[in-house]
Amino acid sequence: MLQLRPNCEYCDKDLPPQAADARICSYECTFCAGCVETVLHNVCPNCGGGFVPRPIRPAAERRPGLCLATRPASMARVHLSYDKPAIAAFVEALRDIPPEKR
Ligand SMILES: [Zn+2]
Ligand SMILES: [Zn+2]
Repeated sequence: MLQLRPNCEYCDKDLPPQAADARICSYECTFCAGCVETVLHNVCPNCGGGFVPRPIRPAAERRPGLCLATRPASMARVHLSYDKPAIAAFVEALRDIPPEKR
């Protein structure tokens, strides 16, 4: 089950569960669409993978036990593991390689 992390690791923007601009990598590293497009260029700075839009968990209980109230989003904010110059160099090295070939 996805943790639904509460913020962009890069700019710290709030990304609540219903945010349409949340992006995740396969490890659920979480960033906003703006950072993914303009800074990260579809390179996760933690793992080197690409991003997809994060699915939105229904707020309403459409099926028994399956909704935000019973399966709540994470409240633990996550911050960068590398400094921004190191991330820029990492992104530069990988951005021209499509994710399926990284
Ligand atoms: Zn961001
Ligand atoms: Zn990642």
